[in-house]
Amino acid sequence: MIDFHCHVDLFPSPELTADEIDLAGTYVLSVTNTPKAFPKTAQIAKGRKRIRTALGLHPQLVAERHGEVSLFRRLLGETRYVGEVGIDGGDENAKHLDLQREVFNDILDACAKIGGRVLSIHSRHASGEVIEALDRHRDAGVAILHWFTGSLTHADKAVGMGAWFSVGLPMLKSKRGKSLIKRVPRDRILTETDAPFASNSGDHYPAAAVADTLTALSRLWDCDEIETRRQLQGNLRALGSRAEAFKVRLT
Ligand SMILES: [Zn+2]
Repeated sequence: MIDFHCHVDLFPSPELTADEIDLAGTYVLSVTNTPKAFPKTAQIAKGRKRIRTALGLHPQLVAERHGEVSLFRRLLGETRYVGEVGIDGGDENAKHLDLQREVFNDILDACAKIGGRVLSIHSRHASGEVIEALDRHRDAGVAILHWFTGSLTHADKAVGMGAWFSVGLPMLKSKRGKSLIKRVPRDRILTETDAPFASNSGDHYPAAAVADTLTALSRLWDCDEIETRRQLQGNLRALGSRAEAFKVRLT
């Protein structure tokens, strides 16, 4: 099983959540919302084979935390994975759009400069802008659009640029989400939970939601779960070898 966008550090007991992830045997991208949260969150994943920690600066926190961009740059050498980053064009965040654009640009520049990263990207109400920014920074690495709700035209453009998509149950339950997933090549899809948000398993890791996502995706792809699982695992392996090529500082 694969959960390529999960906020492990935002569970009430992250260590326990990591134990539950280990027990479930799920491969997890543990994203962070601020650079300051990265070192401690990376520590939780130490010695755990299936958890990778991403360095992030959530667009909804940019107004408050843009001062951490320099810390982001300093920490970027320690991981091949970046997220959650991006732009949020929702009403509450629209007043900080310029700052969000600037920070996202800085992040993509930094990723390009260091030789590329795998990026988990937020694009709520800003898919066009996010795709334009990625288009200007093609050397930033492999972009994975998380919980994408943009138009099919934007999705097509993203696919054309080499972007991937991580999809969860809410997308698989919506008509729009389903048509988008159908449109994207199967070798560009990974599953995600965005837990502890968008899941209702209380304080626990939502292993059942990951299984349900696989079931829903099988139905949409019209193939059995073994085949779906094989496809997703192949995708993760392919992404893993892309990531291996990105240089990191060993800590
Ligand atoms: Zn998230």
